Amino acid sequence: MATTTTEGIAPVLGDATVQELREAIHGGVLRPGDDGYAEACRIWNGAYDARRPALVVGCSGAADVIAAVGFARSNDLTIAVRGGGHSIAGFSSCDGGLVIDLSAMREVRVDPAARRAQVGPGAVWGDVDYETQAHALATTGGLVSTTGVAGFTLGGGIGWLMRKHGLACDNLVGADVVTADGRLVHASERENSDLLWGLRGGGGNFGIVTRFEFELHPLGPVVYAGAIFFPAEHDADLMQLFREWAPGAPDDITAALNLTSAPPLPVIPEEWHGKKVIALLVVSAGAMDEAEAQVRRFRSAAEPVADLLGPMPYTAMQSLIDPLWPKGIRAYFKSTNLARFDDELIERLCAQHRAAPGPQCEIHVHQMGGSVARVGEGETAFSERSMPFVVNAVTGWQDPGDTEAHTAWARAVVDAAADASTGRSYVNFLGDSQAARSSYGAETYARLVALKREYDPTNVFRLNQNIGPDED
Ligand SMILES: Cc1cc2nc3c(=O)[nH]c(=O)nc-3n(C[C@H](O)[C@H](O)[C@H](O)COP(=O)(O)OP(=O)(O)OC[C@H]3O[C@@H](n4cnc5c(N)ncnc54)[C@H](O)[C@@H]3O)c2cc1C
Repeated sequence: MATTTTEGIAPVLGDATVQELREAIHGGVLRPGDDGYAEACRIWNGAYDARRPALVVGCSGAADVIAAVGFARSNDLTIAVRGGGHSIAGFSSCDGGLVIDLSAMREVRVDPAARRAQVGPGAVWGDVDYETQAHALATTGGLVSTTGVAGFTLGGGIGWLMRKHGLACDNLVGADVVTADGRLVHASERENSDLLWGLRGGGGNFGIVTRFEFELHPLGPVVYAGAIFFPAEHDADLMQLFREWAPGAPDDITAALNLTSAPPLPVIPEEWHGKKVIALLVVSAGAMDEAEAQVRRFRSAAEPVADLLGPMPYTAMQSLIDPLWPKGIRAYFKSTNLARFDDELIERLCAQHRAAPGPQCEIHVHQMGGSVARVGEGETAFSERSMPFVVNAVTGWQDPGDTEAHTAWARAVVDAAADASTGRSYVNFLGDSQAARSSYGAETYARLVALKREYDPTNVFRLNQNIGPDED
């Protein structure tokens, strides 16, 4: 039995109690002092490396998840759920609680005829792309292949195929979910459709998903994709061009601008390494010649530093920037949805780019619209689908002494966009917690609270952008 039950303080778990859990489940249980415990504490964001959960439970299947949830509840342990471990805000780790680690459950099974994939909750997008591309199929995944399918999809899922095929959550057609009271339920359009609605953007608030089912689409394996890097002196011109071009671009194309510093990669001339640049990133799910024609206007707008845009395997594009964002880097993101992208904002973003305190300070401007905007408002928990652009300030650093400067910079970028913002943001792009209420519209939020009351009335699943069951 646990001897302390105060929330936030680790209960002292007796050896016999932990042994009971070890015997009950098929996966592994790690506690402080065990071999592998320190590594099991680490998530992608190195800023949270010091967190020390009482237990890390490596689940092998839904039965282990049910047992772990029951154990945590009986022993008053806060639960952290870990899929791919990429939570920017550190939700998939905790001090003194119980981490439900799903990373061993990463099987991906594809039915090419039905164009469906069954995906384990520990899979990362590289796993899904590998299995689906064997059949020249794909679904919307992340810009970095090591990001987990689970947290990504449950928050929404902004990726390179979204304007053609919708967000990741729009392609989620079914899920198995372990609820707070230890039941395993299925959510689909036919069964518990309210729960499916909530899983499409409401995050990990309603239970632990132990299997995802996605719709797949024909793609590739070679697509027109990549990046063109331009000198930062063209920031303003290229942002204006992007603003004019983006709303009328075909759905086949999804693009983003990245105001960054040139990475030290062999494909970029050495004299540019570390210098300020603006990159246009593009993926086309359509014909090569049409994509080439669409980007011609950018090519002729300025002399590039490096032009890496052309036919390439889709899986290569999906892992193109992986080396720049390794596990263990300290990171902070802050984002906002834009109502407009006016000249004043462009000027401010240029100034923020110049003021960036380190080489891994990036301002991403995502082109939205297309299929994302054609899903009706209210059809999924992911809301505000009409926004034309999303700005995301992304920053990473190694030295803990740089934390203040980097987080302050990302906040300043979003502050600079305040006038042009809708006031809402995408939950998965936030490094701060307690942002749920301000991320969803009032109507969606009220529905999310009602769903939370139904599936998790005592807020067992609260390490997330939390939707409180007791909120108005
Ligand atoms: C390098 C990097 C690149 C990124 N790129 C993109 C991008 O291109 N597009 C985009 O939209 N987002 C992107 N993100 C943000 C990403 O979507 C979120 O960080 C997301 O939460 C990651 O999912 P995960 O499973 O890896 O995270 P985890 O840290 O494992 O989980 C995050 C949270 O999701 C919930 N959760 C996880 N698994 C489950 C489950 N099985 N059941 C219920 N709840 C669960 C829990 O609340 C958990 O705390 C990126 C993040 C990083 C670090």
